[in-house]
Amino acid sequence: MNPRLLAVVSVEKVQRVRCQKDGCGHGVYAAIHVVEHDGRVKVLGSTCFAEIYGGEHALGRPQYMGGGRKISAEDAALLDSNTAALLAKWELAKIETEARNRERLRSMNAMQASRLEPAAPRPTPQSMYAFPAPEVTRRVASSPWPWQHPRNYSIALLRSPHGQAWFRVQHQDQSQKLAPWPLFDGWESALPAHVGTADLALGAFGVPDIGRAIKELAALGFTSPQVGVWNDFRRAF
Ligand SMILES: [Zn+2]
Repeated sequence: MNPRLLAVVSVEKVQRVRCQKDGCGHGVYAAIHVVEHDGRVKVLGSTCFAEIYGGEHALGRPQYMGGGRKISAEDAALLDSNTAALLAKWELAKIETEARNRERLRSMNAMQASRLEPAAPRPTPQSMYAFPAPEVTRRVASSPWPWQHPRNYSIALLRSPHGQAWFRVQHQDQSQKLAPWPLFDGWESALPAHVGTADLALGAFGVPDIGRAIKELAALGFTSPQVGVWNDFRRAF
């Protein structure tokens, strides 16, 4: 069975555990690597992990938690005495987090979809004389992003190699975002980390350098940006 990296965690120094590489046995408390290999769970110091597997990143991202996150004293005790119980606990937490994320995605999609329903015109005595609202206002009001900049309504569509649609949208705080539309399961990890950071509340990636991001995404097979306003695109979605 292929080795799997389960977690990279840290504990208080007094709760340090023994590195289980043959012949090591050093106490480790920062960056404890928890690995499953041939059906056995081992804890390893970062140096021994890199020696055995050929590098710090050799097994990719940990299945449960990474970055040397500090675990509770209770979990640290389990790490020493009952790894199976700790893994079961982490697995449950992971399933619950995924379920919460799916639920959140569903409600965000429902909320954004309801924003796109045309609002019933308010029957006011003036309406038959009034000019229609300026086109610009209508375009912005009907976009799926309530946080979009009120004046810069220009957006740009980039399609991923998988055909997913991403829009470059300016936030009202002037920053640039890449927003998937429609939102799809797993969108928050669909762009490489160096492009930007997923903001779950907005349903978009914050992108510090949009020019660079577009070049990097082009190198990954994304289409070049097609610029327009939401009204140009909405019929296709
Ligand atoms: Zn070691």
